[in-house]
Amino acid sequence: MDIVERLVAELGPEHVSVAPNRLDERRHDTWFQSQLDDRGEHPAPKPRCVVCPSSTEQVQAALLVCRELRVPIVPFGLGSGVCGGVLASADTVVFDMSAMSQVREVSVTDLTATFEAGVRGTDAEARLNASGLTLGHYPQSIDRSSVGGWIATRAAGQFSTAYGNIEDMVLDIEAVLATGDIVRTRRTPRASAGPDLRHLLLGSEGILGIVTAATLSVRRQAEARLGAAYHLSTLRAGIELQRKIVQGGFLPPVMRLYDSTEASRMFSEWAEDGHALLVLVHEGADALVQAEYAQVHRLVVEAGARLADPACVDHWLAERNHVPDFAPFIENGVVVDTIEVAATWSRIGPIYDAAIDALRAVPGILAASAHSSHAYRSGLNLYFTFVAQPPERDRMSETYRECWDRVLRATAEGGGGIAHHHGIGRVRRSWLSQEVGEGGLRVLRALKRALDPDGIMNPGALLPE
Ligand SMILES: Cc1cc2nc3c(=O)[nH]c(=O)nc-3n(C[C@H](O)[C@H](O)[C@H](O)COP(=O)(O)OP(=O)(O)OC[C@H]3O[C@@H](n4cnc5c(N)ncnc54)[C@H](O)[C@@H]3O)c2cc1C
Repeated sequence: MDIVERLVAELGPEHVSVAPNRLDERRHDTWFQSQLDDRGEHPAPKPRCVVCPSSTEQVQAALLVCRELRVPIVPFGLGSGVCGGVLASADTVVFDMSAMSQVREVSVTDLTATFEAGVRGTDAEARLNASGLTLGHYPQSIDRSSVGGWIATRAAGQFSTAYGNIEDMVLDIEAVLATGDIVRTRRTPRASAGPDLRHLLLGSEGILGIVTAATLSVRRQAEARLGAAYHLSTLRAGIELQRKIVQGGFLPPVMRLYDSTEASRMFSEWAEDGHALLVLVHEGADALVQAEYAQVHRLVVEAGARLADPACVDHWLAERNHVPDFAPFIENGVVVDTIEVAATWSRIGPIYDAAIDALRAVPGILAASAHSSHAYRSGLNLYFTFVAQPPERDRMSETYRECWDRVLRATAEGGGGIAHHHGIGRVRRSWLSQEVGEGGLRVLRALKRALDPDGIMNPGALLPE
């Protein structure tokens, strides 16, 4: 029996698909390069088949069949990844996790919710809202990404400055490793019980095993919300202001700082020419929100910023899940993408300057800009956007790569971290050694060998060749 027959025998025909449209839709995530390849001469091939397990036991059974036949596996959440973490080849079996969509348990007392890995973000949020609760994790892609995908990529939500990123919310994880072993970590608010196994899977991008469920620490819906927006002279001035706000003990869940290019693009009706724009949202118990709003406003005014039209906040809240479409850019021979990095406060400003200068020197560059969206006591992220039109259409991939390399080089040379929340996938894997060093790479490869001895889990993702 070949792999498809074996999987059908093990799971039943309803869980295994070779339908061409299904294979087509599961070939890759939303990485720009894969979309570009689809319109060129090298589209990603269709996988051998797609399995759609509906239980942890089915994941285990299918995985053991693949292991026995040495067939590579590509885990697929909902395919919203932007780094090429999902890219099938003709011999792979894609594990589509979307049928593992049960909410196993919600506890209003403990503020916990256990989701299967394929639960869509908006479905998780709707279920919690029905009990007066909320995730507190709202990635822009919440309507097209899964709980398992968030864990596999170490995702960040838009309200992370106060509520934390996914790794701050995961209380326990259930996963099937490449060996077929099922790992279930204990649900406890904290542990001092050896290395934390959750962190093996957080950010593992499907190379060690398949996350099948997780319990997240959730929150009660906020009592009050207040927003404000401010004009600032420069992005660098805004970085310094954000440092004072956060280090002063204030954590507005949303604190977004746009350089003047992005401010005029995103807030064209309200931005002031040549000025950066800061958008804040305070949320929580009413008394705390009022106090935080007043104190932060004082710091902002002391820094010389001026109030902008509060419509900026409403506009951001209304548009925050807008999804850009790359197709028209590609048709016009234009490459575009975003790159998120992070660094400590003293390093992030120089990284901004160096990366923007480096992007502006790319032949055919049309726009280079950045905003910050996740602040920490010791540092900040930056989210660069580039748009470029190379002189010849057949140089689009080369220009795309050059823009990425320039931003990652400026970040690494400036002492920053090359990936804040989208992961490594394929687009950053040649830069991973800059992040973890050769010693770190040896550890990661040793882990991979130990947990996936046959090398079948998501080959090509995360680890450099
Ligand atoms: C418009 C847009 C906005 C975005 N905004 C944000 C944002 O605000 N914050 C943010 O963090 N990200 C954002 N992203 C990126 C993306 O949504 C996240 O990386 C998300 O976590 C991916 O989830 P997914 O379910 O779509 O995973 P997929 O894209 O299907 O997979 C991502 C990676 O995880 C692996 N994987 C998926 N599920 C599992 C599993 N159950 N077990 C093991 N491995 C698995 C895959 O093999 C792959 O390597 C955005 C993407 C888009 C297109």
